[in-house]
Amino acid sequence: MTSNPTSPAPRATLAASPSAIGASAAHRPARETTRRGELVATGLTRRFGSVVAVDSVSLTLKAGEIHGLIGPNGSGKTTFLNLLTGYYKVDEGRIVVDADDLTAAPVQRRPHFGIARTFQKPRLLGSLTVLDNAMLGGWEHARSGFLETALALPRARREDRQQRELAAELLHGVGLGNILTRRANLLDHAEQRFLEIARGLTMRPSFILLDEPAGGLTEHEIEQLARIVVQLRECGIGVLIVEHHTDFVFRICDRVTTLNLGKMIKHGTPDEVRNDPEVIRVYLGA
Ligand code: ADP
Ligand code: MG
Repeated sequence: MTSNPTSPAPRATLAASPSAIGASAAHRPARETTRRGELVATGLTRRFGSVVAVDSVSLTLKAGEIHGLIGPNGSGKTTFLNLLTGYYKVDEGRIVVDADDLTAAPVQRRPHFGIARTFQKPRLLGSLTVLDNAMLGGWEHARSGFLETALALPRARREDRQQRELAAELLHGVGLGNILTRRANLLDHAEQRFLEIARGLTMRPSFILLDEPAGGLTEHEIEQLARIVVQLRECGIGVLIVEHHTDFVFRICDRVTTLNLGKMIKHGTPDEVRNDPEVIRVYLGA
């Protein structure tokens, strides 16, 4: 992963206020969007050969809550996100959103349950613009069939325009509003991370899962990220955030779950987790 911890000056592109996020991500009329209340994982287990990457882990993510997921490298955090988002199949356990069981739902169905994500290493389409990349998140809500789209019939044109407007608003919200037409392969690391968040939000999700979103960001960029995440909570979105910047996690999270060797070792408020002897022993250090 690219690292840029010593960059002295904040970039203009990330200096914009993320004030648009609330209006566009959550308060927009919910014509096609079902707001979800709770994502509940119970006893999730995933093995790779003899390695139990995730070992009977349970976690509840509520809408409007920031939930931190921390632990040493290899403790199963990314695998857990991959289970929630359907990238990996669950060996044991259940995943439920409100009354819907999605344990066996394929990856492309997860947005239907209100779940969006970002990746530990950003995954963008480099030859597309920032705006087009962000728009990709919104396909779940499109109703036009392929012929309507191919023939550019009115509904397809209208949906395209709505998606474009929403994506542009969200990009302004995350501070990328002045580079909408830049190709994604020209972005620096922080811009890629913020674009991934905007792309996830164009799904109009109830939950967003962020895998190490502060990785490689400067202090200034981490503050920008914190403001965005707090706004998501205010919009009623549940944020599950995997992160090694523990100061950031303990400052903004409502609850924190700690993993070690695939197992949950402590779950609680930031203070409870920060002061837990086992968490200190295996992760935080004395
Ligand atoms: P973290 O994100 O906490 O650093 P991971 O979830 O990436 O941890 O990895 C947890 C364990 O699962 C590690 O031992 C890792 O090597 C293993 N693992 C993860 N993904 C795979 C995979 N696709 N194939 C084999 N082993 C994997
Ligand atoms: Mg990881």
